[in-house]
Formats: sequence, structure tokens, C-alpha cells
Amino acid sequence: MKRVALLGATGSIGRQAIEIIEAHPGLELCAAASGSTPLDGIDAPLTQVGGDLTELLDRAEPDVVLNAVVGFAGIHATLWALERGVDLALANKESLVAGGELALAAMRRGGGRMLPVDSEHSALFQCLESRSPEQVHSLVLTGSGGPFRGRTRDELAGVTVDAALAHPTWSMGPKITVDSSTLANKGLELIEAHFLFDVPYERIEVVLQPTSIVHSLVRFRDGAALAHLGYPDMRAPISYALTYPERAATPLAPLDLASLTLEFRAPDLETFPMLALARDAGERGGTYPCAYNAANEVAVAAFLAGRLPFLGIADVVADALARTDGAPARDLDDLVEADRTARALAGERLVVA
Ligand code: NAD
Ligand code: MG
Repeated sequence: MKRVALLGATGSIGRQAIEIIEAHPGLELCAAASGSTPLDGIDAPLTQVGGDLTELLDRAEPDVVLNAVVGFAGIHATLWALERGVDLALANKESLVAGGELALAAMRRGGGRMLPVDSEHSALFQCLESRSPEQVHSLVLTGSGGPFRGRTRDELAGVTVDAALAHPTWSMGPKITVDSSTLANKGLELIEAHFLFDVPYERIEVVLQPTSIVHSLVRFRDGAALAHLGYPDMRAPISYALTYPERAATPLAPLDLASLTLEFRAPDLETFPMLALARDAGERGGTYPCAYNAANEVAVAAFLAGRLPFLGIADVVADALARTDGAPARDLDDLVEADRTARALAGERLVVA
């Protein structure tokens, strides 16, 4: 029996995870937590709404932590699991983006593993099969391009929150859905892939695949490219991360190939600056990725609250990054401080805007 602690249990990933856990006789929910929403109908021996997630984890003694919290708030749980060598099923990409170096150091000390839940990274993980980075030519992250793919900057000026929340292929929580519409999600995923797979940024490419059937690809040095295909349904990568190295049965339908179209195209980096900003922040390293994430969280919250226009999101993030020193974080305190500073910088710009 594998004991799963589920953090972010009331969210989009959390609810799908409960479905997977309930259907699998080898998985048991030992703890469930949310940020502020009540855990109605969630049956777990230990539950917690708000507060310190690491206290809950100390009591729960899980075999695997499924971190499905949204945002930097997930950092403590990510480091808790990695430091102790407890398997980390990671949906909370923001913690790895912001704290990549600290997370990898904690994982080396703890001796455990990170099992990606993000669909693209689950796909890459499965195609890579633990091969060494030298055998890899490049990683190709795919993305749908979001609801505004093909639009010009002028056409994006007045887009509404509802339009940004209408994702063409995936049904997800509001923050990641807005991130998908700005391509910040692909930017976060670029940095996430760098830390997960130890591949330099110049060898990670982003390509759009509008129907979200190809979840990502690995090009190997011998010329072979391996892709992972499936319908866009997070239950597949959640199940894979929770049951790895098994492949448990899920209710997903087999792919009907003859009914599919698989087109690929390059992302429009000028219209969607969040992707290039992420690449730049990743390449600079230090706490630039942390600042990118923090400023984006502030800007997205303001956009969702109707206090910032869509195009203002990238402006706020670019401005915060330009005013950040990016000094590397020696420890979690430094990282929390870098996050706080970038949030303050982004907040100043919001007041002006
Ligand atoms: P969501 O908004 O639907 O749910 C977020 C969950 O986190 C809720 O249960 C909320 O109560 C909890 N939470 C928020 N702040 C918290 C805190 N401080 N402490 C404890 N819990 C807190 O979000 P989601 O779409 O499920 O996404 C969760 C994470 O998974 C994000 O990092 C997202 O990028 C990632 N992810 C989601 C999807 C998807 O399909 N939804 C796909 C890939 C990756
Ligand atoms: Mg993804």
C-alpha cells in the first residue's frame, strides 16, 4: 500500500488525483490539505485547511507527496519531501521554477526522486527513461498555444478574463489557465524541464501543437525522436506519477489516430513575451526564475481581479525582472526573501499602471 499525502486536494489536479487514488487498490490517501477551501467530501485520516503544510506531512509520514498546491506557497512541501527522500509527485511547478537549485540539492541529500505530474514533463520523463543527458540532442516541449494563438498584439489589448479562461483543450485551475493564455505556463515549464532533466536551455525547444495530443518529444543524438501521445487528460500523468514504475489502468480512451490532426508550428515570441522572458530568466539563473514566477503570480492575480489588462501581465514581469538583482539563494530564507522582493516590485508597478 502506497500512502499518498495530497496537497491542493480541492483543486483541479487534486480532485482528479482523488479519483485515481480511489480507483487504485494499491494507493491510500493518508492526508489531504487545501489553502482555504473546505475539504468537503474528502475522506482522509489527516486533513488541514491553510497553515503549515510541513506539520501535516510530519504527522502523515507519506510514501509519496503529491504537491498540487498552486504557486510559490508549495515550496515548503517540495523541499520537505526532497530533503527526506520521500517521493515527490510534482504538479506544483512554481516551486521547482523558483527554487530549482535548492530543490536539486535537497534531492541529492535526501536520495529520493521527483516524478513529474505536469503532462509535458511526464511525457519527457517517459521518453527519456532515465537516459543520461549526453544521449539527448534536445527536448521539445509542446503547447496548445492557448485561447489566443494566432492573435496579434492589437487584438489582445482588450481581452477579458473570461476569454483568457476559455482554454481550447485543457480544463484547469484559473492561475495556470491564464498562464497558458500568456505562454507564461510554457515559460515556467521550460525552466521546470531544465531542472528536472539537467538539459541546458539552448537544447530545450518550445513548439505549438494546437490539439494537445503530442505531450512532448525527446530528440536523441542518433537522430531518433520519441514522442508521447494521448488525449489531454491529467489523470494519465497523475496516475503515472503515483504508480510509477507501474502503468495502472485508467478510464482514458485509447487514441483514435485516424480522427486526429497533428500540426506543429513555432510560437509567436513577439506577441507573447512571457516565453522569452522565462528563457532569459532561466539562462541568467540565480533568483531570476524566482522573480519571474513571483511577479507573474502578482500580475495574474491582478488580471483575474480586473485590475490589470492582459498585456500588462508581461509588462509587470519584465519591469520586475529588470529591477531584480537575481542574487542566488543560499537557503530557503534567501529564496523566500527573493520571492517577497519580486512581489513588492510587481506590486509597485501595479499601482502605477
Ligand atoms: P487549482 O487552483 O485548481 O487548485 C489549487 C489547490 O491548491 C487548491 O486545493 C487550493 O486550496 C490549494 N492551495 C492554494 N494555496 C495553498 C496553500 N498556501 N496551502 C495549501 N494549499 C493551497 O490549481 P490546479 O489547476 O489544480 O493547479 C495546481 C498546480 O498544478 C499548479 O502548480 C499548476 O501549475 C499545476 N498543474 C495543473 C494542471 C491542471 O490541469 N490543472 C496541469 C499541469 C500542472
Ligand atoms: Mg503542462
